[in-house]
Parts: sequence; structure tokens; C-alpha cells
Amino acid sequence: MTDLTSLTLAEARDALKKKEITSVELTGAYLKEMEAAGALNAYVTVTAEKAMEMAKASDAKLQKGQGGPLEGVPLGIKDLFCTKDVLTTACSHILDGFVPPYESTVTANLWRDGAVMLGKLNNDEFAMGSSNETSHYGAVVNPWRRKGSDAKLVPGGSSGGSSAAVAARLCAAATATDTGGSIRQPAALTGTVGLKPTYGRCSRWGIVAFASSLDQAGPIARDVRDAAIMLRSMAGHDEKDTTSVDRVVPDYEAALAGGVKGLSVGIPKEYRVEGMPKEIDDLWTRGIEWLKAAGATVKEVSLPHTKYALPTYYIVAPAECSSNLARYDGVRYGLRVEGRDVTEMYENTRAAGFGAEVKRRILMGTYVLSAGYYDAYYLKAQKLRTLIARDFAEAFSEVDVLLTPTAPSAAFAIGEKTDDPLSMYLNDVFTVTVNLAGLPGISVPAGLSGDGLPLGLQLIGRTFDEETLLRAAQAIEDAADFNAAPNAWWRA
Ligand code: GLN
Repeated sequence: MTDLTSLTLAEARDALKKKEITSVELTGAYLKEMEAAGALNAYVTVTAEKAMEMAKASDAKLQKGQGGPLEGVPLGIKDLFCTKDVLTTACSHILDGFVPPYESTVTANLWRDGAVMLGKLNNDEFAMGSSNETSHYGAVVNPWRRKGSDAKLVPGGSSGGSSAAVAARLCAAATATDTGGSIRQPAALTGTVGLKPTYGRCSRWGIVAFASSLDQAGPIARDVRDAAIMLRSMAGHDEKDTTSVDRVVPDYEAALAGGVKGLSVGIPKEYRVEGMPKEIDDLWTRGIEWLKAAGATVKEVSLPHTKYALPTYYIVAPAECSSNLARYDGVRYGLRVEGRDVTEMYENTRAAGFGAEVKRRILMGTYVLSAGYYDAYYLKAQKLRTLIARDFAEAFSEVDVLLTPTAPSAAFAIGEKTDDPLSMYLNDVFTVTVNLAGLPGISVPAGLSGDGLPLGLQLIGRTFDEETLLRAAQAIEDAADFNAAPNAWWRA
């Protein structure tokens, strides 16, 4: 880690504006760190030339006292975001060689605001996973290690490249996506901040679709302020996505100063799940005390349908994915494996192109949508989804935000859960509810496990009330004073 790459996004932005540093220097420093961090496998495509060009253009603007809110700031982009003329694969073999002729709205917004693209970040194939082990390009390695051990740990998923890159200082911040926890859980496992905005806050246009009614883009960043800055640039109405909402994008950074005095925080009692490790429970209790000490009031609330959230998610998400992934047929995108006729070509392409987890989801999805089972599974899941959303609506008539743990454990070892999908799916127990209800959620690093690994606390807010969410997150961050960092073993 160099001095330049140790700057937070806010610090880098300010230093660039004051011309204390140049974007070319900063971008060069990141590219060097990225080169030395091959062992983490965080980036799948490095766009060094493009980065230097963008940095030069930013410097020219900054020299003249011009430029956008992110002018010259180097970012990593999850490989789920389509980037014009830059390979975009969703880390699937089936998208081999796919170079989109268009730019996703979220990344276009970032470039509009002056950001510099360092490259594309690894993720679970089509964002399906909680450990970044389903990527066609191999697992990402968490920069953190257990105390006294050199076992390789997962960085969470599906945005594991984003979380690892931010934790290892391989970008100032990163884009990510969250369908059931893929921003918040990897953030928790790497000591970073992950913000999943309200459904409709960021445009989904140009993001490779997984489950369209749940997918939402958001940032993974080093601290709450950086997440707020990123969200302001990423968010906004987009005519190309009819589910994006036409509401003013607030100055989220300005909201941070609001504090939590008088804020009412709910503690959902159903999140105290059986078998939760004591250190997670203790961390949660500490979080409650921190918010109280900062002037918030805390009360227990009930979200009675919580226990149905995981089964509901694992019906809705595969159903939507089976429909979304029908487009990969060997004709329009990426890989084609020939056959004797067109049907066999489809079959060969899909058999070779999709990994095991993606196939599992497509099979489950087509099953629950099939005529004989639609009512029994899919329709029932939709009803439960409504009840889960209603639970939250009722809780938010009593409190302003909810506090929960982000994930049921710290980072686990690579390979530990790959043969056990159910135990892998359990990672999402605290996060999927938020997607089912379309709410915003954030994970903030709050402490270390007994093994010396980061643990996160999650805050959940009302729809389109990211400002209150960020204020509460800032209070947790201030109180936690989390400043541990992984030792940079990968640079050895
Ligand atoms: N881990 C969850 C899944 O595998 C969530 C993934 C996501 O949010 N993209 O579906």
C-alpha cells in the first residue's frame, strides 16, 4: 500500500481538487498495486491504457479548476456492469468474448462525474453465490487471514472482487450489485462498507440481469462517507429502466452530519437466530449500546415472517434467473458450441457455458414456474414476499431504522461450503429480506472476530430514506472506530 492508495475516496477527491496530487499519479499507483496483487484474483480485466487516458483527461480538467464530483478518482467495476468496448462476462464462460457496444447507466453516471476505470472485478457467475467461488475465472481470495493461519478465505459474494479490491486498496471504491446480499455480505467479510440502495434508486439498465425484481446496484467503499459519495453519482432516474424511480438524488454526503439524536432504532427479535455465534450476538449488543450512547432510542420490533425469507428468496430468485438466462443461446452473445442442428447447438452451448450453480438455479427456477408447480411454489412465494414487505412497513411505523448483524459468520475458508449449497444459502439469512421488500440496507465494519476477522453490522432503512440510513451508519462507524487492516501478505 502506498500513501496514494491509502487515501479514502473523499481524501483523494479533495487532494485532486486542490492539485496536491494528479490523477495520473494516483491511477498509476493503483495499477501498480493491482499488478502486485495477482494472488487475490480480484480483477478479471485490467484496463490500464484506458485508465491512464481517462486520468490524463481528468488532470486536464482539474488543472483548469473544472471537473465533476469524482474527477480523477480511480474505481473498480464489477464485471456484471456492461462497459462499452470492454470485455464484460459476468464471470461466466457463456459470455466469453462479449464486448458490449453500450455502457450501463450506472457506470456512465460515474464517468460523467469524472471517475477513472481501473478494470473489471471478479464476481460469482451471474452474481449467484455468497463466496465468489462460482466464478469462471476462479475464486477471489480475501485479503484478510485468520490470526496465525495462512488458510485462504473467501471475500464473500457475489461481489467478492469488489470487496477484496476495496479492502486491499486496489481501487478507491467499487461498484457492486445486490440481489440477496451481494453487496452487504462481502463488505462484512472484508471490513468494508457496502450500501444496497432502495430498489429503483439506481438504474439496472446495462447490468447483466440475475433476478430483475431484486437486483440493485450500489457501492462497496472504505467508509460510510465514501459510500455516500459513490451513491450520489450512481443513483438517478433513467428512462431506459422503467423500474428506476424519478426522485431527486439527495446530497448523501451532506446528510452524514445529521447524527442520530432522537432517531428510533428497531431490533428485530426474529433475527436472533438459533446457533448464531456468540461473538456476532455480542457485536449486535455493542451496536445497540453505541446507537443509544449517540442519542438514539432503541426498541425491539417483530418481523414475524422472517423465517420464510430464505425459502421465498430461493424460489423467486431462481424463477427470475431461469427466465433472464434464457437469452444465452449461443446465437446472440459470447460462447457457441456447434451441434447437428440448432436445438443441439443451444443445448451444447448452455451445457458448456453455464457452471454448476447457475444450472442448479435454472433447474429450480423452471421447476417452480412449470404449470404443475406454479401455484404450489412460485405463487406462494409471491404471497410470502408481500407478507415480508408488510412486516417491514409495520416496523417502520414505529422506528426509523433497524439494526441487525450482516452475516451469520466471519469469512470462511475457500472450499469449506462448496459442496453444501444449503449452508452456503444460509449466509443470506439477514440480507435477503431487504431485497424481497425493496428496502435500502448498509453493512458497516464493527469489530473483529476472535480469529481476527472483520464482522459487520447491518442497518435497514425505509424506502428512499438512504439519508437516515447513512446517518445511523456514520454513528456506528464513529463508535466502532474500526481501523484494523489486513497485513499485505499478497505483496510478498
Ligand atoms: N448469495 C445470494 C445468492 O446466491 C445473493 C446473491 C446476490 O445478491 N447477487 O443468490
